[in-house]
Amino acid sequence: MKIFDLIGTVPKVGSPLTVNDFEKLTKKASPYYQNENGKGKHYAVCPVCRNPIVIVNLYTDSSTIEGDSSPAPLHARHSQKTIVGIAEYDEAKYNECYLANPAVFSCTDRRMEGDVSNELLDLIINNAKIIRTMISSAIGLNVGDKLFESILNDFKSEQGHLYRFVNRYNLPYAIIYLMKNRSINYQYLKGEVGDKLKASINESFNKSIFISKNQIKRNDSSVSLNMFFTEHNRNKNTGEESLLMNVEKKEGSNSSIIFQHKIEFDTSLFINWINKDQRSSDIARKVFKK
Ligand SMILES: [Zn+2]
Repeated sequence: MKIFDLIGTVPKVGSPLTVNDFEKLTKKASPYYQNENGKGKHYAVCPVCRNPIVIVNLYTDSSTIEGDSSPAPLHARHSQKTIVGIAEYDEAKYNECYLANPAVFSCTDRRMEGDVSNELLDLIINNAKIIRTMISSAIGLNVGDKLFESILNDFKSEQGHLYRFVNRYNLPYAIIYLMKNRSINYQYLKGEVGDKLKASINESFNKSIFISKNQIKRNDSSVSLNMFFTEHNRNKNTGEESLLMNVEKKEGSNSSIIFQHKIEFDTSLFINWINKDQRSSDIARKVFKK
């Protein structure tokens, strides 16, 4: 994993694991820095299951990736035993932890309805605006009302909140991934991804689909521009995740992919954004004493 937490951190959001952040937050003190047989060891807490985690390659790069002789990048992994001062090892929680068992979006592994799945639904309902903005930036479209409703309906009909791979860190991306093949005709392009998509549309269509004032338009109803997502990947060592966005040109029964874009997950963005929103509200409430 590429995130860590301190002992008793509330809210449990996880900080991105970098040498700077680790040093600053732990203050380079015990129990995060320990000496074992004259060797410096570094520990923290898993933000998801609260079990102890070992920081690998904080200062050295002696650890290598399995089956590969090149050094592994800085990352953390579960210790699977109690680390004094950090946390007791809880095997049941470890087995439930998605960071411990990196799985791709296989959609076969389901969780029971309960606290976790309810929390995910609440997160969607209470932070729909943030989710919509994140999706829009990731896919290069200013997602319109109808498309947003369809995307949420797809997540609901797939019961996305019950999939093990879906968690509060990757929730907006999981919502994108579970979207069915959908038309993006009449959507507005947005940002850098939107610019690239625009170039592909201009190359691939002979005016049947075109861009006018940044909006995707068509003058032939037998032609359509559709979008779907594939290839969810999670790096076993670093925990980094990505998925592939595909844009498809449909003409009657013919279809071809005209644009692909790899979406890299920023797994701290969603929760950080929610917390910042909350802090802003708290400040305003305090100032105006409401
Ligand atoms: Zn964990």
